Amino acid sequence: MTLDKIVEEIYSAKNIVILTHDQPDGDAIGSSLALYNGLKQKNKQVDLVIPEYPKVFSFLPNANEIKTEGKNETYDLAIALDCGDKSRLNGFVKYFEDANCRISIDHHGINTMFGDYNFVNPMAPACCQILIIVLEALGIEITKEIGTCLLTGIITDTGGFKYSGVTAETFEFTAGLMDKGVNVSSIYKKVMQTVSKPKFELMKLAMNRIEFFEDGKISFTYITKEDEEKANASTGDHDGIVEMGRDIEGVEVSIFLRETNEGYKISLRSNEYMNVADICVLFNGGGHIRAAGGFINLPFEKAKEKIIDACKKQLK
Ligand code: 5GP
Ligand code: MN
Repeated sequence: MTLDKIVEEIYSAKNIVILTHDQPDGDAIGSSLALYNGLKQKNKQVDLVIPEYPKVFSFLPNANEIKTEGKNETYDLAIALDCGDKSRLNGFVKYFEDANCRISIDHHGINTMFGDYNFVNPMAPACCQILIIVLEALGIEITKEIGTCLLTGIITDTGGFKYSGVTAETFEFTAGLMDKGVNVSSIYKKVMQTVSKPKFELMKLAMNRIEFFEDGKISFTYITKEDEEKANASTGDHDGIVEMGRDIEGVEVSIFLRETNEGYKISLRSNEYMNVADICVLFNGGGHIRAAGGFINLPFEKAKEKIIDACKKQLK
């Protein structure tokens, strides 16, 4: 069984690298740190390599041990978390490819099964909810610290326990973590409620720019590099903008374009039926049915037209 193999490989590996997807969110950071802390408990030599991540997650136990670069030598084992596609490994795909053994633990609907062993469940609402099974199989004690990392991933990827992927198991698991002393309301406040000033400025701009198409079923907004500079934004300050459109009555799909040095990063969210992962695959991306991302390298007006057209085609 895959899980037995994964346990065996982790036990036999001397040095391990943990990687996650670029533009890491709470589930990416939470799952990576939960596994990192768990492997440390087992006295493993482990590097967690993430070049940059949103400041809101710096409260997580041992976040200060996250490295921006790995070692030059080859790792015995590389583990990718919350990542559906090798190309999204934060620019560190070489650590993954060069490792003697490669494992992917993930919950993306579109996952290319790029590991030697893939523990992937697209039904799980967060990678952290899958990771618990792996940690238990490894005999790692779920401490308050590890639980805090795991619950951060669950809270952020479920939008605070409200998305359709939430299951009874999500709450059973959360109850178990609360028994360990994990503080739900404190994590919730830190990662879901508190908005940094730059983020607030970007949200204001993006909200004012929302346009509707197809009888209000499509919403569209964007931010530019200049907006981010002016707002003094840092990593992750654009998170949440795409949800503003999604939550407007009558909207089926919300489109958010964010200007980067290489073109526009696309974020899509849907409400009832549109499979936005399928749309993002057309734009070199992927993700989940209701939340996905991709990339488009065209001038703004062309990019806008192309992504709106792709969404129009999928409207009922
Ligand atoms: P976001 O819109 O928050 O950037 O991403 C929404 C979801 O889609 C996340 O689960 C994220 O991992 C996934 N996603 C975003 N961009 C890409 C991409 O370029 N490729 C793939 N495969 N998935 C993406
Ligand atoms: Mn995730």
